[in-house]
Amino acid sequence: MRKASRKQSQPGAGLAYAQLASSEIARDINRDIILELIRSRQPVARADLSRLSGLQPSTVSSIVEQLLKERWITEGGAVCRPRGRRPTLLSLNDTLVMLVADVRPNRAIVAVVDLNGRILARQDVVLMSDPQRSVPRIVGTMEDMRLRHPSHTFEGVGISLPGRIDPITHRLVMAPNLRWGDFDIKGEIERSLKLPVELNNAANASLLSELWFGRMDGVRNAVLVTIVEGIGTAILANGQILSGLGGLAGEFGHVPIDPAGPRCTCGQCGCWEVFASSRAALRFYAEFNPGAAPVTIQDLMQLTAEGDKKAIAAVSLQAQYIGRGLRLITAALSPEVILITGDLTSSWHIFGPIIEKELRDSMLAGPPPALALTTDVELSRLRGAAATALQRHSGYHTSGRSVETGRRRSAGTAQTPAMA
Ligand SMILES: [Zn+2]
Repeated sequence: MRKASRKQSQPGAGLAYAQLASSEIARDINRDIILELIRSRQPVARADLSRLSGLQPSTVSSIVEQLLKERWITEGGAVCRPRGRRPTLLSLNDTLVMLVADVRPNRAIVAVVDLNGRILARQDVVLMSDPQRSVPRIVGTMEDMRLRHPSHTFEGVGISLPGRIDPITHRLVMAPNLRWGDFDIKGEIERSLKLPVELNNAANASLLSELWFGRMDGVRNAVLVTIVEGIGTAILANGQILSGLGGLAGEFGHVPIDPAGPRCTCGQCGCWEVFASSRAALRFYAEFNPGAAPVTIQDLMQLTAEGDKKAIAAVSLQAQYIGRGLRLITAALSPEVILITGDLTSSWHIFGPIIEKELRDSMLAGPPPALALTTDVELSRLRGAAATALQRHSGYHTSGRSVETGRRRSAGTAQTPAMA
């Protein structure tokens, strides 16, 4: 931005810069389209990429050469055709991998993820109450994993955190459930592992995972809600993940819905998450069952699966509050889809209909958005952390640009997630 305004002060230079920028953006967009087509159609021939993208064969060839040089893709295996030249097929390079961590209060899950979103290794790490002692534990596990995969190339590190990260300083600015003080997580891991590190909010990571590895083709307005210890939301608006000033957009969990309610970890009283998170379900269960031994959320969900009436009543009350809170989201953003991920999805057949009814009954106008479940919380956060590490090459869903492939544009629909 600074560069553009400086150039614009010279007569004519602004237009030249804009033309240069737009040709660079076009090249990046074409590259994203080709990489996305290789990811979704692999193994695929160059001629098919040209046909599917609507790009000239020469353009496709030069992008493919670049991607091969950068090792994002590999070439191999020939198609058996009766006559003529046998084209070689292109696939993503699955020896290129990322180290990722899904950080939660008290523990982290550390993993190795490849370009196709496959988890090659996974390990639980117990965390301490502060980042000074916790981050070295994550780093140590990552170092061990790197040593155990000598034939893979480690491209970067992605970390999913239950908090908001300032997009400029890359530091945690708010993490009420994690309660970590200010600490340079990114810098510490980069210095130790000598790899680029990207941090992301857990809800945004899950949404990115759905965009890259899920089934979100054609959806341009969606909200993902994670229901775990707290409530996190991520917003896809007109095809872009919304960050907001300081990376703080999407904190619906901390909008008070009853000022007379219990105190929240953020300091306010009666926030949505105080009534609709997994912690709320545990509180309701304790209230319905005075004197009973404390249970974990996994125990509570197991009890609901076994038909325990008090457990079902507690999670049903949580589900009602979830549905009521979704009104905030539909009224503010009018998404096509609301994606739910979190603890209560394991008994979705019981609690999904309660949430759906509350949502339906609270619409201001028009039909309610579709409710859908993501892949499980852990997988979507790990893949999302990997996508976070990868997307620094492209910034596809967060930089403000969006593309449609030639084919999909003609169908009048989709935005294609890019791989790099
Ligand atoms: Zn709050």
